[in-house]
Amino acid sequence: MAFAIGYAGGDWDRAGERRLDTAWLAAEIAAARCRIVPVWRDRNLVSGLPGAAPRAAFLNSEAARALLQDPAAGAILLGVADGGPVFALDLSERDEAEAAFGLGGFAEIRGFGSLLPPGEAAMLAAARGLCHWHRAHRFCGACGHPTESREAGHARVCANPACGRSHYPRLDPAVIMLVESVDPAGRPVCLLAHNARFPGNVFSTLAGFVEIGETLEQAVRREVLEEVGCVVGEVSYRASQPWPFPSSIMLGFRARAAYAPLTPDAVEVSDARWFTLADLAAAAEWEEEGAPLRLPRRDSIARFLIEGWRAEHA
Ligand SMILES: [Zn+2]
Repeated sequence: MAFAIGYAGGDWDRAGERRLDTAWLAAEIAAARCRIVPVWRDRNLVSGLPGAAPRAAFLNSEAARALLQDPAAGAILLGVADGGPVFALDLSERDEAEAAFGLGGFAEIRGFGSLLPPGEAAMLAAARGLCHWHRAHRFCGACGHPTESREAGHARVCANPACGRSHYPRLDPAVIMLVESVDPAGRPVCLLAHNARFPGNVFSTLAGFVEIGETLEQAVRREVLEEVGCVVGEVSYRASQPWPFPSSIMLGFRARAAYAPLTPDAVEVSDARWFTLADLAAAAEWEEEGAPLRLPRRDSIARFLIEGWRAEHA
């Protein structure tokens, strides 16, 4: 029973020192060992779907050349993996079937990512996030002129000589927290909530975006107070999850609170309760529709936080 965090397996060499090395980039993208992760309108190329064992499908540089006059121009260097360079390439302007090269189909990664090897899931998610960022930043936010890709796709520079501003990929940090307490009977309990957007009877940890000018700990306390009226004390960091859908990173925390009735805000959170270990032992998996209590997906950081708490009390 594994509870690895999804999309967290991206341990390839990101080769940051190569991003300005134009000779190396040109040679590598032409090399036979080059692999390209195509992205088509936020979808990734995958083979083996429908099925239980899908795999990422990569284009080789020959395929990329057939699609683009100068594949290096739009390619984003993801890094070096298994001895060869890996690039992401946005083919959104192409015909979908043409961009797939007969290697598979384009699909939304959140529908199959948990079935991929961890490194492939992280690589496809990173490609999706970077391609999304490029499409959303084609114009300079300062002066409105077009921007151009630089640094092997890790920056965009305003083409207006009077501006010339550099723009870099941005992440939207979000905190996600398991709040723990002890109930009046002396039992350990954790706070899980049903968000109005969740499927029926799924209860998970609270989460929310960090606001400008706020520490992560302040964001944890504010979100818990806003969403369920619970005052949090000690906050400690546990783990993170890349979440480039389109541009977040989830920062996971444990938080302590005094036991008190919960008051869901009824906007985002429709129900919130303190759960005992026995409650969780009786809970069903996310996929088990109709069960009276369902836990979040096994590859989510929410589930990682819940299982970490359970393990401490086992
Ligand atoms: Zn500009």
